[in-house]
Amino acid sequence: MDSVDTIVPSKKLAIGWFSFTCSEDSTILLTELLNDHWDEWKKVIEFRHLRSLKTQNSLKDLDVAFIEGAVSSEKQADEVREIRNNSKYVVAVGSCACTGLPSSSRNDFLSEEMNEKMKFYMNHFNYSDKVKKLADVIKVDDMVEGCPMNVEVFLTVVDKYLDIFKIK
Ligand code: SF4
Repeated sequence: MDSVDTIVPSKKLAIGWFSFTCSEDSTILLTELLNDHWDEWKKVIEFRHLRSLKTQNSLKDLDVAFIEGAVSSEKQADEVREIRNNSKYVVAVGSCACTGLPSSSRNDFLSEEMNEKMKFYMNHFNYSDKVKKLADVIKVDDMVEGCPMNVEVFLTVVDKYLDIFKIK
């Protein structure tokens, strides 16, 4: 008879991890967490989209999408809408996604404070006038706040969705 440790569930939690305007510190934290949790997570989680660690990625039929970073252009807004349309749940990860800050601090600049270099970047990359938090663009089901994300809260949220999908 299999021990509890060797039983593999028939369904794994299909997770996507996405980064927008940010320093990607929560992605680095996730990578660090994999050092400790990979053996446990590989039995119950499928990392279906994780571009920082995989070359083959898909955002089709995700159970949970974790999104870090703020939304700073209409192109990014379209991308997060596409992720929302392909995900049962969306979790905002880190302060930039949850509140917009610190990435949205440029929203408070007066136009005369914008130097030529900033104007070049704004125009060249089609950035929006205002940087937005994730919930300004799509429905968000959960938030893992912190700059970078609070690890304890992140682990609790992962467990919550394993429970919701009856995987653990
Ligand atoms: S919330 Fe903080 S750590 Fe995370 S991307 Fe934004 S600035 Fe970086």
